[in-house]
Amino acid sequence: MAEISFWGGVGVIGSSKVLIEQGSWRVMLDFGLDFTPGAGLFRMGVQVRPEFALHDRLYTEQAPLVPHIYRPEALHGFPLPAGSDRHTAVFISHAHIDHIGLTGFIDPSIPIYCSPQTYRLMEALAESGDVVEGYPPTFTAMEEGKPLTWGPFRVTCYPVDHDVVGASGYAVETEDGIVAFTGDIRLHGRHPEFSESFARSVKSARALVIEGTTLSFGFAEAQRTEAEVDALFAKALQQTPGLVLISLYPRNLERVESFLAIAKKAGRIMVWPKTWSTFFRHWGFKDIQAFEEDIDVAAIRHNPSQFVLQMNPQWLPWLLDLEVGPGSMFLHANGEPLGTFDPRWNVLHEWLKFLHVPFWSIGTSGHASPEDLNRLVQWIQPDILFPLHSMEPDRLLPPPGTVRWLPQRGGKRYALGEYR
Ligand SMILES: [Zn+2]
Repeated sequence: MAEISFWGGVGVIGSSKVLIEQGSWRVMLDFGLDFTPGAGLFRMGVQVRPEFALHDRLYTEQAPLVPHIYRPEALHGFPLPAGSDRHTAVFISHAHIDHIGLTGFIDPSIPIYCSPQTYRLMEALAESGDVVEGYPPTFTAMEEGKPLTWGPFRVTCYPVDHDVVGASGYAVETEDGIVAFTGDIRLHGRHPEFSESFARSVKSARALVIEGTTLSFGFAEAQRTEAEVDALFAKALQQTPGLVLISLYPRNLERVESFLAIAKKAGRIMVWPKTWSTFFRHWGFKDIQAFEEDIDVAAIRHNPSQFVLQMNPQWLPWLLDLEVGPGSMFLHANGEPLGTFDPRWNVLHEWLKFLHVPFWSIGTSGHASPEDLNRLVQWIQPDILFPLHSMEPDRLLPPPGTVRWLPQRGGKRYALGEYR
């Protein structure tokens, strides 16, 4: 009999870790870290000790007490059986920290599978020094749409639409039927057809584990499409006489690529933090300009209308030298600070107010609206629905013929064959 348990993402956005067991064999879907700026024991400058990071996270319940998954040397005496059992494999849905953040502690003999694009993305990030906590993990790219056999399981990776390249959903065939896992998913991005095709491929699954991020904020309206985001960016460039400051998320490479083209067409050069430039060049983007290295402050100050500067929240004092003001514009496009929950959000707004720089939020969510989540569930029509990765998972109602089980965190195992 196959069983499923949830070691993260329960009542929270992110931190996904879904364990499927059959006999002595195990499949772990995602191995993410809680990303909660401004909350928890590690905040206001208090950080995990790099060498004891896993130890500190296990003690504070920020890493799951799953036996035989961690590197023995990372435990530093924490009482948990470590090292591989040779029957466990990890599959990663996408390269966001709340889905991959604990992979640096996985025992190196446990394979970590991901899509080819996610593999490429992780390589480019590593080249730019952007690494996960712990030890450098080794990922293995798996072919999309082609089942991989792991013990009694057959695991298939499918592309889905999300705000990072290479995002995947998975189908895990067990003796009690298919468990479908959406990872993070949406229908309003550049590739809704990926998400639709995934839904078709896992139709009538035994169980569907679906993210429910947008259920958390009480909103129900449709999201902007990425095409609308592009149009707003073009409009902002046209209407702003001075310097355009922007906050993008670097791993959303499709948006970065699109914005580079839009800026070029508008006669503006995009300028990036140095580490981002390294990452973008490794990814393969051409004509990338790094702040201070390729384009200095004086160049921007003399010709502000020719530039778009990607801000780093730590750089705000540079704004004094850049002489920004009411003719400038700050565009928020899902970069850092990510939102009101981030303590740096208010700091940014105070700086902009002090300098009289207008603020415009032009982004869109990486997550399906509540209406689209319902659409996905109705398309798939699973026997069992597990809403995850949400602060209010109970707002996702099952359609007729589907039972909904609200996951509990940790050791509770749900037998997939139990309900008929
Ligand atoms: Zn994500």
